[in-house]
Amino acid sequence: MRIDILTIFPAMFKGPFTESLIGKASKKEILKISIIDIRSFCKDKHKKVDDRPFGGGAGMVIKAEPVYSAIRSIGIKKKNNSYKNIYLKPYVIYMSPQGKTLDSKIVKNLAKFKHLVIICGHYEGVDERVMNYVDEEISIGDYVLTGGEIPAMVLTDAVARMLPGVVKEEDSVKNDSFYNGLLDYPHYTRPAVFKGYKVPEILLSGDHKKISEWCLKEAYRRTKERRPDLLKK
Ligand code: SAM
Repeated sequence: MRIDILTIFPAMFKGPFTESLIGKASKKEILKISIIDIRSFCKDKHKKVDDRPFGGGAGMVIKAEPVYSAIRSIGIKKKNNSYKNIYLKPYVIYMSPQGKTLDSKIVKNLAKFKHLVIICGHYEGVDERVMNYVDEEISIGDYVLTGGEIPAMVLTDAVARMLPGVVKEEDSVKNDSFYNGLLDYPHYTRPAVFKGYKVPEILLSGDHKKISEWCLKEAYRRTKERRPDLLKK
């Protein structure tokens, strides 16, 4: 999968995308992430990426022109919905607190695309006319962050986990919370007794059938206790 991220703070992505599973997935070329500096598309001498809002009010707004030029540099001319197979289309996302709230269903669907383009806002956001080139606005929750960079990292990380080969054992993804509408069951590792606290006996039994029944029962119990709304869904 190819992911292009448009940002005015490219340095923020060092670390989250070079370490751990995402770093490995990039090395294995399962994932090709490009960080595109919106500022480099500013035509003026001072590379000014923002301006005051029309109509007044607090804060600055990221100008449409450099974001548009950055989108154009990827080869996207306009919102093109004429693709027969939607998943082959470069899908443009704007990270925004006003978008659809990210959940497991959206993540699974985004993982089907071959190419995602993620725009990160800052200040008051980007000039609204950029939305003419955006397919979907996505929020990571009902709160406001200073910029779209952390939301873009959250989205990229969640989508990347769905790609075959990113997480070594695919079963681990399938048993994770939300994947099948349940929360995950509790996990334990050695030692079998820690400060007097014992691991549930069944997990030491070696009886795989009974262990998987226990895992399912625990996942269900936890979901009922902590997130009954998921069971209703
Ligand atoms: N004025 C905007 C509003 O109230 O809707 C908030 C702007 S916010 C300070 C700056 C940028 O951070 C946004 O343009 C967006 O890209 C990003 N952002 C902030 N909170 C977010 C969230 N919950 N989900 C996704 N992106 C978010």
